Amino acid sequence: MSQVFKNILSFSLSELTERLSSFGESAYRAKQIFDWLYVKKVSDVRSMTSLSKGLRDKLVEGLPFPVLKQEKHQASQDGTVKFLWSLHDGERIETVLIPMEDHNTLCISSQAGCKFSCGFCASGIGGWKRNLDCGEIVGQVLNAARAVAPKSITHIVFMGVGEPFDNYDNVLKAARILNAKEGLNIAARRITISTCGVVPGIKRLETEGLQLELSVSLHASNDKVRSQLMPVNRKYPLKELLGACRNYAKETNRQVTFEYILIKDLTCTEQAANELQGHLRGWLCKLNLIACNPVEEFSYQPPTRAEIEKFLSMLERRGIHATFRTPRGRDIAAACGQLRVS
Ligand code: SF4
Repeated sequence: MSQVFKNILSFSLSELTERLSSFGESAYRAKQIFDWLYVKKVSDVRSMTSLSKGLRDKLVEGLPFPVLKQEKHQASQDGTVKFLWSLHDGERIETVLIPMEDHNTLCISSQAGCKFSCGFCASGIGGWKRNLDCGEIVGQVLNAARAVAPKSITHIVFMGVGEPFDNYDNVLKAARILNAKEGLNIAARRITISTCGVVPGIKRLETEGLQLELSVSLHASNDKVRSQLMPVNRKYPLKELLGACRNYAKETNRQVTFEYILIKDLTCTEQAANELQGHLRGWLCKLNLIACNPVEEFSYQPPTRAEIEKFLSMLERRGIHATFRTPRGRDIAAACGQLRVS
């Protein structure tokens, strides 16, 4: 498949080497440029002062930086930071930085808008606009890395706006650039791809030979509730999804993480605990519970703390180890399901 390179952050090192040779430049120039991009993290080709002016002019002309103009920057009381970027065509995306004591996680977007319309998520409300190109994905990480310097971004989660497997090629290429030792050198095990349950993407990832983390939004324990919450379930119902996940764990020997939303009186019942036991017990997977977050357009309510504890012990008794994830950035609408482009 021929690839369209729109900007300098869309290139792997070998592709950049090849492109520069077409400019009559030697291979080490590509390494120098990678160093300027991913180690020194400059935001402008003109700052690459070890390159000749002639080459810098060619880069500005032929391989510009992707446009990610910061429109807004909001900081939560809990330290979470949300960035709103506008892109070259006016589309907008969000990125969320979640600082922890000993690491910094960045939640990045893979598409402008989303076509999957999950019933608890603000990102799908405005519909799908377009895929992000690889450079627009990598650019979110570089911009955030400059913002947290001298600390670093240590973990990446593809859990922002969009479905990563609906933009598979750009997402995988960006993950490879972020992981490359000449790139940002973020360990593959610290890069998580999160899907709403696009089965062909899970099957394809299984063949990549990468150590990336796979996270699957399960969010319900039976097809009736899951189809109500996630229209994707009508295309890839639970049996097919769980079969693909079990196969992924078996073939890659890597654990699958399931995200599971807690909605009062709907997903945290005794019946749900029984069904989850049937689905998840006895194979290489883990369960993360998240209380649903307020979104103006939806009426779902989170359970109380006591109801969450009760559900956790129901799971424990059934041999399912689950952890409850405390929501971050709720006050700036940066928590799961709250991202949108406004
Ligand atoms: S949860 Fe993910 S796949 Fe579903 S609407 Fe939101 S962004 Fe799209």
